[in-house]
Amino acid sequence: MAILVTGGAGFIGSHTCVELQQAGYDVVVYDNLCNSSEKSLKRVEAITGKSVKFYKGDILDADRLNEVFEKESIDSCIHFAGLKAVGESVQKPWEYYENNIAGTLTLVDVMRKHNCKNIIFSSSATVYGDPAEIPITENCPKGQCTNPYGWTKSMLEQILSDIQKADNEWNVVLLRYFNPIGAHPSGTMGENPNGIPNNLMPYITQVAVGKLPELGIFGDDYDTPDGTGVRDYIHVVDLAKGHVLALKKIEEKAGLKIYNLGTGVGYSVLDIVKNFESANDIKIPYSIKPRRAGDIATCYSDATKAKEELGWTAQYGIKEMCADSWRWQKNNPNGYDD
Ligand code: NAD
Ligand code: UDP
Repeated sequence: MAILVTGGAGFIGSHTCVELQQAGYDVVVYDNLCNSSEKSLKRVEAITGKSVKFYKGDILDADRLNEVFEKESIDSCIHFAGLKAVGESVQKPWEYYENNIAGTLTLVDVMRKHNCKNIIFSSSATVYGDPAEIPITENCPKGQCTNPYGWTKSMLEQILSDIQKADNEWNVVLLRYFNPIGAHPSGTMGENPNGIPNNLMPYITQVAVGKLPELGIFGDDYDTPDGTGVRDYIHVVDLAKGHVLALKKIEEKAGLKIYNLGTGVGYSVLDIVKNFESANDIKIPYSIKPRRAGDIATCYSDATKAKEELGWTAQYGIKEMCADSWRWQKNNPNGYDD
């Protein structure tokens, strides 16, 4: 039996393929490579010594998905495929709703036709909006999202929950990621954003490698200890391991489950800059810029539920996240494009 990993060539998907293979699972990756490179899968193979089956295809393409289900014996799907750029989603809402929502509906339809009713879905802490409580437990009500990307996550959570409610043969695990950073400790796999990064850590590593002159810090007047935004950064390898444990939960016939995947610790933007500087002995020039539209002051998880029910806790701390992000960027200044 194999695990279908949609979006498996991407940042989180590729790291999850490593952990799945190391845990003994066979992996089938399905990705249209719109935001990734097949080379990431070669790096997976180099780490694990096992081959990854790869199908290039779009989740909107039911025929291609059918072909995969006919050829492979798929037991469960870990569904990472989706567009994820917040700013772009504001400019291109139709494209985001089509790709993420219509794509997931197509995938789920093909899955049920092949009687594969196990899915782990990549959701996000963004579904909490401006959270009603900190730290955020899974019981915290979902909030108003500030962009179409966030709404696709919130709506897909609802859609998958309704499907599971109507047919309890489905096992659905919704994983709400906080802020994934870091890279595989080998330095051979990591985040590979197109163009100028939107997210903090890839921006910092590109300043460190000399591709960008300085970091702009979006606001220092938030109601936080140093005025900059506070987030729950999680090492991508820890996040990947969370998926393997979620799969074990599915194997126990999970029904519908929702878990936060975060460390439970909040760091400010300045904390991250300082930790990056001290972990890697590099100075990161920065200047304070106006707040970024849609940002909130503070967002960090209560990670108790994943610990109690999945047996998952983050192993890596902020030093490793900073060191591993830098090792990847330093060794691969152009990501997978070299
Ligand atoms: P990523 O862009 O690196 O990976 C997504 C992958 O999906 C890419 O390889 C892309 O080519 C593929 N893809 C996109 N649309 C597709 C389609 N229509 N058909 C087939 N493949 C398609 O992003 P990531 O950071 O690895 O994120 C993975 C998932 O986790 C996404 O759903 C994202 O929204 C979610 N998520 C990410 C973060 C984060 O900060 N990275 C936080 C919360 C949730
Ligand atoms: N941030 C910043 N400069 C950047 C990118 C991000 O100051 O170039 C801040 C952002 O305002 C937020 C934190 O870093 O407080 C994390 O932002 P990111 O975009 O990485 O993740 P988000 O929490 O928005 O999903």
